[in-house]
Amino acid sequence: MKKKLLPLMLAFLLIVPAAAAQGDSWLPGPPISNTAAPAAMVPETPAETPAPEPSASPKPAPPKGLVDLREIEATWIIDMRYATQNNTRGVAFYPTDDCFLREGTAKKLLKAENYLAERGYHLIILDAYRPQSVVQWLWDTCPPERRKFLANPKKGSNHTRGNAVDVTLADENGVELEMQSGFDDSTEKASRDYDPGEELKARTDLLTTAMKKAGFKTIDLEWWHYSDTKNYSLIKE
Ligand SMILES: [Zn+2]
Repeated sequence: MKKKLLPLMLAFLLIVPAAAAQGDSWLPGPPISNTAAPAAMVPETPAETPAPEPSASPKPAPPKGLVDLREIEATWIIDMRYATQNNTRGVAFYPTDDCFLREGTAKKLLKAENYLAERGYHLIILDAYRPQSVVQWLWDTCPPERRKFLANPKKGSNHTRGNAVDVTLADENGVELEMQSGFDDSTEKASRDYDPGEELKARTDLLTTAMKKAGFKTIDLEWWHYSDTKNYSLIKE
């Protein structure tokens, strides 16, 4: 190599940009109001404010103690329904579709996914860590007679602990399968006691087997909800 090239190479190395700054908190902006839909938390970009360059917006870091499921190499499908309008409220009330869980819970979920993948199925992850402000908003805006389906924000939810997950099944091509009810259905069809017929019952049973083998427990009211058998403390936002 010619010696006169060396100074040029050194100069190039010195001007390589520094790494991006630390990530923002996951829930930017003011707390959710008790009455307004959190969709209002995501205002349109004011016309006079130039949109930041994509490279200047580092991916938000998970809250302490949680891991980002999108960073895990897995064959599951992540479809955070509360970040879309495809949920029972019909509004997106997560500002991002980030998907976070406790590290130990995420490892268990990976076991469940691998069990299902070996049998030609996949998990679709519908919800995972849920910030306390969202749990509170869900409670405040829910008619009292339907609150039995929600965690009381005073006690906290396992979703707020980062050790609960809502899941359903997809086939080997990633196509969502019909289950005994839709996600967040608040009728008796969501109950584990409901008899949806042989084929749909077998799907609930398969999902339950995969999750229980991996270290999750069920609740009676919602076939899609699973909590890690290991307890964790509430996560303060
Ligand atoms: Zn749940």
